[in-house]
Amino acid sequence: MPFPNIYRDALSGNAGRSRSRRWLFSQWPFGQWPWPKGHLRFAQRVAALLMVVLLLFSVGCRHPRNVGSNQRGVYHIVKRHQTFWRICKTYGVDMEEVARINGIKDKTKIKVGQRIFIPGARRVLKVDIYVEDVTAGGRATAVRYEKGRFVWPVEGQVMATFHTNATAEKRRHDGIDISAPAGTTVRAADSGKVVYSDNKMRGYGNLIIIEHGDHFFTIYAHNEENLVKEEVPVKQGDAIARVGKTGSATGPHLHFEIRKGSTLLDPSKFLP
Ligand SMILES: [Zn+2]
Repeated sequence: MPFPNIYRDALSGNAGRSRSRRWLFSQWPFGQWPWPKGHLRFAQRVAALLMVVLLLFSVGCRHPRNVGSNQRGVYHIVKRHQTFWRICKTYGVDMEEVARINGIKDKTKIKVGQRIFIPGARRVLKVDIYVEDVTAGGRATAVRYEKGRFVWPVEGQVMATFHTNATAEKRRHDGIDISAPAGTTVRAADSGKVVYSDNKMRGYGNLIIIEHGDHFFTIYAHNEENLVKEEVPVKQGDAIARVGKTGSATGPHLHFEIRKGSTLLDPSKFLP
């Protein structure tokens, strides 16, 4: 039975409880444009209204808080190992402003897959990852050098030592290079968890980063092959890779670094 027309009810003198209810539903927004008066059943009207509410809600979600709907920008979707600092630096935008716009309270706690609105950006940019993006986050604590704190990751001759002060003759070197034949097993210098196993960092080739306790990280680069996956726990001495010359390497060797948070340390001061 179609919803009765209020005017027909009025003319026919159809009075009482059901009439007053019909009168209520004939009022705005039910009884006027865009609702065809008296032609929709009550349930249909409620469903239509619900759909409008849902539509408005989804439109509201499309823009984060504090962003005008006419503000230009793009959404950057956070990928693994990308830090908030690196994303903002890549786009050349102010960290505080982006945090405010997106309602981000803790800048160290962004998640993979999270959408971050970058105001003013015209296109989505590729955000490069650096070793410090993986190892940062730990506060710079006092470093105590300790011979034998780590074991040698591979047997071989040290062909390039660690030094941080670059000169005209000598480039900065963030670790030590240990010469070994291609395919030689690379072993975890201490127990920990694999936090990076990929080849997305420029120059490093196939790279593994292991996190140990107390903000210590060890880095193994130029591998022919990585044998462990991210998030996997490893024990000291476990096979994690094979020596190679991937990335910026002229011959097969292991480039090995030790870091505490973002601080570069001389591996030779921690090896036996
Ligand atoms: Zn090196």
